[in-house]
Amino acid sequence: MPQNVYTIPKNTIEEMRRFYANTLQSTPQGAVFRAKTSNAVITAYKSGKVMFQGNAPAVEAEKWTDKAKESAKAAPKTNKTTVFSPPDTLFTSNHIGSDEAGTGDYFGPITVAAVFVKKEQIELLRELGVKDSKNLTDSTIRKISKDIMNLDLPYSLLILHNEKYNKLQKQGWTQGKMKAMLHHHAINNLLNKIDSNSADGILIDQFCEPAVYKKHIATEKQKLADNTYFMTKAESYSIAVAAGSIIARTSFLSEMDKLSAKTGIALPKGASKKVDQTIARVMKSKGEKALNSYAKTHFANTKKAKNYL
Ligand code: MG
Repeated sequence: MPQNVYTIPKNTIEEMRRFYANTLQSTPQGAVFRAKTSNAVITAYKSGKVMFQGNAPAVEAEKWTDKAKESAKAAPKTNKTTVFSPPDTLFTSNHIGSDEAGTGDYFGPITVAAVFVKKEQIELLRELGVKDSKNLTDSTIRKISKDIMNLDLPYSLLILHNEKYNKLQKQGWTQGKMKAMLHHHAINNLLNKIDSNSADGILIDQFCEPAVYKKHIATEKQKLADNTYFMTKAESYSIAVAAGSIIARTSFLSEMDKLSAKTGIALPKGASKKVDQTIARVMKSKGEKALNSYAKTHFANTKKAKNYL
């Protein structure tokens, strides 16, 4: 099982503990915390060593390691991160929210949706049941997504299909960079659709440190739009991010349906043992190379599936 170990400053470890609050597991001896996500088990030790172990440990580690490197340079402490924290007024203003789906799933694409919500639409969206898609069933998500479409809200949806994902990954793109570029393009597409002065701000559901996000898009000569903010669990605060999460999730579900129809095999979500067994079935019926069109092949699941051949 792939694993990465880094030394991370104590204050960042505290931040990580808060970030992973919903996924904490029982703390092993000598550890500060242990958390489990679909990508990795993250164990932070009192020594400052943090171990990322699992299907895609780099996906979790890259949220923190750049920051770790920066802190190691003993940069003077500034409250840089607060520059990216949204003002409370943003949630009740005209604003853009963006969120993604599919990043921890072995099969299927990554989808990102950015949505523009006007303040007078917030109440209606709330009545439609728009909220954090993680707390909704797939069928409810699809239904609410239809209701959102009926409102004709301006939005931009991007799908990074598996062939392209795997190509970028082989070219050295991290998943973090792919996500940053998808959010960036979705937001820019949307800004081109609306009068750009009509949005008071843009809120991105935070998946990495804002400085890392900026660095990713800078490698493609891109810059953050004005008034861009980042926040973890933003979908719980912003109806625009919640709407984005529902649109992205619905798109991910329908892409998974299409891929399942193509393979003739019901492709499961996530990256579990059931996924490994299904990969083996796909390998047997279509050949290993076919996975390039259906899956994020660099996940450790590709190797693990061979135990079921
Ligand atoms: Mg998100």
